[in-house]
Amino acid sequence: MNPDFPVFPAALEAEPWPACVLDMNGRIVGVNGAWDRIARASNGPLGIEVVGTRWSAHITGAELRAWYETLLHRVLDRGAGESLRCDCNTPERYRLFSSRFEPLRRRPSSETVGVLVLTSLIEEAPIGERYPLGTPDELRYRCADGLVRQCSGCRRVRVAGPPPAVWELVPEYVATPRQDVSHGICRLCREIYYGMLPKEEP
Ligand SMILES: [Zn+2]
Repeated sequence: MNPDFPVFPAALEAEPWPACVLDMNGRIVGVNGAWDRIARASNGPLGIEVVGTRWSAHITGAELRAWYETLLHRVLDRGAGESLRCDCNTPERYRLFSSRFEPLRRRPSSETVGVLVLTSLIEEAPIGERYPLGTPDELRYRCADGLVRQCSGCRRVRVAGPPPAVWELVPEYVATPRQDVSHGICRLCREIYYGMLPKEEP
């Protein structure tokens, strides 16, 4: 926790899921205890590694990162909270999370000083029950530009070929991020979870 930051809600420590506080520039100034517990279980960055960094820097893929930065600006500008649901899958588990972004206010002035980001797991299942699973077959997933296209949200990869796009979950590609990946957003995540307009298939 940055000692210069004016507010860090003590109640966050009771939250069973990761929560963090961002300053007005979107930098992480503190995380709760659940952050490290979940980070260790999912090979994510620990609190000590993320405090001081921009929250959005931990979002994979330029388009989704920009989308979240716009959301943070909106929360700060309007002073009104927003929430969304999104997939955050592991090689074995389908995991649907709820994320809330709440403006954080200094008392008693009500001046907005940052954003509180709260997450909670709302649904979980074996990954194969929710998505068709693929095997790491280079020819099946390598697109015409030579790259494998992966969704920044659900982490499925696009089957190479003409539209309409088919996306499959390849556990090996989730477990070990590939170097030859270009990130996009699948139609499910784009339209259902992030409320984006449809986009022409690449
Ligand atoms: Zn997706």
